[in-house]
Amino acid sequence: MHTDLVAALDIGGTKIAGALVDGAGSLLVRAQRPTPAREGAEAVMGAVDEVLGALTASPLWDGVGRVGIGSAGPVDAAAGTVSPVNVPGWRGFPLVERVRKTTGGLPVALVGDGVAMTAAEHWLGAARGYDNALCLVVSTGVGGGLVIGGALRPGPSGNAGHIGHISVDLDGGPCPCGSRGCVEGLASGPNIARRALRAGWRPGPDGDTTAAAVAAAARAGDPVAAAAYERAAQALAAGIAATATLVDLDIAVIGGGVAGAGDVLLAPLRRHVRDYATLSYLRRLTVEPAVMGADAGLVGAAAAAIALR
Ligand SMILES: [Zn+2]
Repeated sequence: MHTDLVAALDIGGTKIAGALVDGAGSLLVRAQRPTPAREGAEAVMGAVDEVLGALTASPLWDGVGRVGIGSAGPVDAAAGTVSPVNVPGWRGFPLVERVRKTTGGLPVALVGDGVAMTAAEHWLGAARGYDNALCLVVSTGVGGGLVIGGALRPGPSGNAGHIGHISVDLDGGPCPCGSRGCVEGLASGPNIARRALRAGWRPGPDGDTTAAAVAAAARAGDPVAAAAYERAAQALAAGIAATATLVDLDIAVIGGGVAGAGDVLLAPLRRHVRDYATLSYLRRLTVEPAVMGADAGLVGAAAAAIALR
């Protein structure tokens, strides 16, 4: 019997998505439930079990040989546990053991959601064909993952490449992570919106104060809105350049909701990367938008399951 399908799970603070993924990265069967993020550990696991139940009910389930999980972090791949910031009921939750039990003892790979997105972009997306890549998810938070020497490098904990919490501002404000001046504090969607509002930007009649509304204003010529993106781009560029200088990157890929700002973010980002990544071996470094979209988490979880075995 062929067992080359992967059951992929993408676990976030708002939804739990699942799919059966084939060796070409196609999603053959899908299931999804809202994450009961404010409820207890067993309620959240119940939602995971419902998603898995929908997948195991498929006639294709007999072809599943492994399970891949991409989860909001932090994760502990060595221990098989997750502690997603936005799911307070799960702290050190033994997700791998529980999923293994539900799926009849299949091997389970666990990575953080930034690593999963990176695996997807490297397998089928913007980083395909590049052996040394940093992929970023710029959204409510800022995450990422690394490909080095042609292979996904999640690190022993499954979190390597978590660029949102490297410090780029020595005297910057305190970060919820306990450090200060982190990339995320300058470049996440909520922080871009906060910076614009603090500097005097005001939303339109719809009252929309999201980073997407700030991007629309910047595109329409609002200099305060543009400055908030300029600052975010600068912080991301400093983090990308530091990473590239350390591990000798070919490409940085920018995904996540904030990347939907397009050139409002990408143009200053490319400019600032040139300012910071100055050494000769970094001249080849390119910055490209992600292409895998909303399915990146599922495709990446499947890729990680394939890669980590
Ligand atoms: Zn931090």
